[in-house]
Amino acid sequence: MLSNFAYVQPQSLKAALKQLETPEARLHAGGTDLLGCLREGIFGAKKIVSISGLNAFKGVRETSNGGLRIGALTTITQVERHPAIRSRFRALSQGAGEVASPQLRNQGTIGGNICQKPRCWYYRGEFHCLRKGGERCYAVGGENQYHCIFGGENCFIVHPSDTAPPLVALEAVVRIVGPQGTRSVPVSRFHVPPSEDFRQETVLAPDEMVTEIILPPAPSGLRSSYRKVRARRAWDFSLAGMALAITFKDNTVQKARVVFSGVAPVPWRSKEVEVAITGRRLDKETVARAADAAVREAEPMEKNGYKISLLRGVVEEELLAAQSGESPG
Ligand SMILES: Cc1cc2nc3c(=O)[nH]c(=O)nc-3n(C[C@H](O)[C@H](O)[C@H](O)COP(=O)(O)OP(=O)(O)OC[C@H]3O[C@@H](n4cnc5c(N)ncnc54)[C@H](O)[C@@H]3O)c2cc1C
Ligand code: SF4
Repeated sequence: MLSNFAYVQPQSLKAALKQLETPEARLHAGGTDLLGCLREGIFGAKKIVSISGLNAFKGVRETSNGGLRIGALTTITQVERHPAIRSRFRALSQGAGEVASPQLRNQGTIGGNICQKPRCWYYRGEFHCLRKGGERCYAVGGENQYHCIFGGENCFIVHPSDTAPPLVALEAVVRIVGPQGTRSVPVSRFHVPPSEDFRQETVLAPDEMVTEIILPPAPSGLRSSYRKVRARRAWDFSLAGMALAITFKDNTVQKARVVFSGVAPVPWRSKEVEVAITGRRLDKETVARAADAAVREAEPMEKNGYKISLLRGVVEEELLAAQSGESPG
């Protein structure tokens, strides 16, 4: 059951930041994740600060150098369908299209999507686990079939967002505003791995908010894609997935950014795959070597070893599709 809280809807950024100074104030964008967390008692709130009235942070704008600025309150549907994102940053459009259901994509925002809380069922249930301030991780020795195979330490969540891995691959930057002013953080450094802090998912302080996500111009020859494997055809989170941003020259990989979803507590950059393919044609031999490299450092838990072959398959299929300029989707 929801406990009582105050609800405010500031009409300016300044007023929103002022409201966020209240202890236990929680920022509300589309509310699709926040209200679930409050209902499930994962955390409480004394005040809900709805930022839905901040129109300056809605929509997509071109930058003077050919990049894009995406307002944090842009809905996931708008991100998926925006013509410039579809044509120049296809991985992001595909990632947005993989989020939840049409209703949730219409309501949920891109800012909320990269800030959403983890989906570990112990965390979402009545277990006072390490991430919630308790003494132990229940996934260790427990039902860990949906947990991570990379980067687990103390806590073994997988990062839930389908838009964050493409944003990391496309070298996007998050604009953050707080009482101290504005700062810019690459999306690749926005999420906090449990090895650094197992209680915090992002670098945001409680009184800060994301206002925009900035995509640098797409280099010529860029092919980008996002592929997600899930347990059910209906809405479901990633079991294993991959965002790719590859620049080709004469059919050879000039530069590659490869980021996995569904297998690590943060969007997981695979430098191993990047090294295996850079400077090469994506022929069968190179792709097989890259798929081996992708999973070499994996450390599965008792019940999620299946993710290794799943991820290997995703890497192989997507790299072969990238060479031919197609994505199996
Ligand atoms: C049934 C279901 C299935 C789902 N499946 C998927 C899926 O397959 N893939 C996927 O990626 N996601 C999935 N989601 C998550 C969904 O995409 C998120 O709920 C949504 O993107 C969050 O957006 P929102 O605007 O509603 O955020 P809110 O619920 O308003 O906020 C989410 C969190 O982010 C914080 N926040 C929001 N905006 C900002 C901001 N601008 N600055 C700082 N903090 C902010 C809030 O305080 C809150 O903690 C699913 C959710 C549900 C309920
Ligand atoms: S994986 Fe993390 S969130 Fe899940 S039970 Fe363990 S400590 Fe809690």
